[in-house]
Amino acid sequence: MVAGASRSTKSSVKAVAAKASGKGGSPAVTKAGSKSPARTVGAKTKSPAKSPAKAAAKAAPAAKKAPAAKKATPASREAAARAAAKEREAKAKATAAAKALREREAKAKAAAKEREAKAKAAAKEREAKAKAAAAAKALREREAKAKAAAKEREAKAKAAAAAKALREREAKAKAAAKEREIERRARERAAAEAKKQRELEAKRRAAEAERQRKLKEIERRNLEEQRRQERREAEERARQEELERKRNSRPYADDPEFLSLLRDRLLEERAKTLREIQVLEETIDELREDREQPEYDEEDGSSAGLDFDRDQYQTLVDQTLRPKIFDIDVALERVADGSYGRCDSCYEPIQRARLEFQVPVFLCQTCREAG
Ligand SMILES: [Zn+2]
Repeated sequence: MVAGASRSTKSSVKAVAAKASGKGGSPAVTKAGSKSPARTVGAKTKSPAKSPAKAAAKAAPAAKKAPAAKKATPASREAAARAAAKEREAKAKATAAAKALREREAKAKAAAKEREAKAKAAAKEREAKAKAAAAAKALREREAKAKAAAKEREAKAKAAAAAKALREREAKAKAAAKEREIERRARERAAAEAKKQRELEAKRRAAEAERQRKLKEIERRNLEEQRRQERREAEERARQEELERKRNSRPYADDPEFLSLLRDRLLEERAKTLREIQVLEETIDELREDREQPEYDEEDGSSAGLDFDRDQYQTLVDQTLRPKIFDIDVALERVADGSYGRCDSCYEPIQRARLEFQVPVFLCQTCREAG
């Protein structure tokens, strides 16, 4: 900056010198002048105002040298006057230039001051702006922070709300799931109950069917038993009827000649038996009379023999001959009603030969052998 400032000073000096010698371009001066304030803002130590004065002092000797050359020819006083006029003009010009320079410098100084002030103001403004910007930035930051915080809070609130909503949804879902579970369990229980009922019903039906089957079986057996019983009864009845028929049968009723023959045989036998009884009873009487004789000696034992014979005869009479008479009478009664010749055990007819041979007879050969 210092170098820049000195350069601008030099350039402005050159411009002044060039103007003073008559060949300088004003645009350069104005250019330098316009340029310098901007370059000299920071360069307070070297005031640009001193430099133009030195330049003017330097330029002055150059201007003083010119009149010395004109003294040589008095003829050329006019020329010298012109030169002097020219010099004065130049001096005036230089003075004017210096004045203008000073004025410009003053202006420049003022301008510099103004610029400085402006710069200060600008700096202040910038500072203020910077402060404001900083404040604004801080504000923005705060706002941004606040916004961020608000956003965060909002986000948190949203998250909380979402979490709450989620919890609520979850709770609802849980409740719904619980309800569904309860309903499902209720359905399952109902289904299980229904199944149990069906099973019970099936069991009951099976039991009922079994009971019915057993009842039918019992009924069938009862019926069968009844039929068997009926059959047995019928058979028994038939047997009884047959027996009754046999009992009342008269095997030789349709053969009166044979019955007559049998009657004769029975009567003959009866007479014979009676005779035997008579003989035996007479003999028994005799034996009793012998027993009552006094000379009868009990010691020799003959009396015991007599007693034995007598008892024998009496037994024969009582247990064989008299029952035989009774039997013959029964047989005769049967011959009379035509039932004689029927076996008392099996009610079958007794064979003719047996009836003729044995008198009386009440059993057939088979029953006689069996008994
Ligand atoms: Zn018989």
